[in-house]
Amino acid sequence: MSLISLNSALKTLFDAHIEGISQEEELTPAAIEHALDEGSMVLLGNPAHKNVRPIVVGQPSRVKVNANIGTSPFQNHPECESAKLRVALAAGADTVMDLSIAGDLDAVRRGMLEDCPAPLGTVPLYGVAQHYIDRGDDPADMDPERLFAEVEKQAEQGVDFMTLHCGITRRGAEWAARGGRAMGIVSRGGSILARWMLKNDRENPLLTDFDRLLGIARRHNVTLSLGDGLRPGAGCDAGDPAQWEEVITLGTLARRALKEGVQCMIEGPGHVPMNEVEAQIRGIKKATFNAPLYVLGPLTTDCAPGYDHIAGAVGGALAVRAGVDFLCYLTPAEHLTLPDAADVKAGVMASRAAAQIGETSLGRPRALRREAAMNTARKNLDWDGMRAAALDPELLDARREPHKCEEECAMCGNFCAVKMLREL
Ligand code: SF4
Repeated sequence: MSLISLNSALKTLFDAHIEGISQEEELTPAAIEHALDEGSMVLLGNPAHKNVRPIVVGQPSRVKVNANIGTSPFQNHPECESAKLRVALAAGADTVMDLSIAGDLDAVRRGMLEDCPAPLGTVPLYGVAQHYIDRGDDPADMDPERLFAEVEKQAEQGVDFMTLHCGITRRGAEWAARGGRAMGIVSRGGSILARWMLKNDRENPLLTDFDRLLGIARRHNVTLSLGDGLRPGAGCDAGDPAQWEEVITLGTLARRALKEGVQCMIEGPGHVPMNEVEAQIRGIKKATFNAPLYVLGPLTTDCAPGYDHIAGAVGGALAVRAGVDFLCYLTPAEHLTLPDAADVKAGVMASRAAAQIGETSLGRPRALRREAAMNTARKNLDWDGMRAAALDPELLDARREPHKCEEECAMCGNFCAVKMLREL
């Protein structure tokens, strides 16, 4: 049975949007349907998210970029998050995740769903943990029923994809927390679930009751973004047994979900040294049966706070070349503070550049056309053409503004090498 025949919410979305998506991706509807059936592509969109513009993620569609925004206990200003949402979309983010952990999370989420035509993702565990942490209680005392209720509520609200750390097991948590890692567990969701399992000596409820999640996800076509709760948080922790144990579990869960008509992505690292990125990506793709892989960076050095968007873009470009489908941005604020609007823009542009670099190296026609268009425009000193090919035309305009009446740019002025040869 095809995936679409098992998932009526997905069928509604597919029928309504496949023509536009197919044109945008330069793929036939049949090729997209085949990739969805194989589980190597997902169609992000919850029919309850009014005015959502669904997108596909996965080979061989264009690599997508996600921007994380959301309140934090030290910086809880919903209006700033709304502004950051607009900046992320204007900069070209394909999706946005609301990672809010402070204030009225329902109100923030509802506002973002209204304002965000791109698919919106969340981490439902945050809403549940907030209930305990804000009262000074231990999230390890969490009632798992609250978690399933939160997932259902957010699915009804229209959330398009959800990070759910279903693959972290008691054994994996034990290994990561007590097994000699430099950084232990750095995922917020992963650390909460690990604490819950270790304190209660019980298995992860998202794993033991995975079928309940599947029922909710199928009804609303919520794509499960199977979270990497044990992702390495230091380059030297990459590829340890705890990470791979979780990856293998995620692969088996993705297969189970597909059989039940539920779409899944796999979340990936994290901090990975440059020489290990390719092996990590190929290994994860293989262990998860080519499910769309969504990576955070990967961050190729731990020593560049303030420049993590650059260190992440290096890893992102390598990861795209190795087969990654979806890049989650890192901003200059990573590891330091909550990003502001300028950080959001810098992060989205760095990830978009990484995607362009990776796709160019793969010979993807759209990426090559953009490179060729820029080269032709530069050769002709055609600034409109350069603007059209630029990833950030707004920045091009701003930097050129003081000398925009000149044919050449201010880098060389009348020493312009392009003009020098052209006039011969
Ligand atoms: S002035 Fe220099 S940098 Fe600018 S277009 Fe001419 S050669 Fe290129």
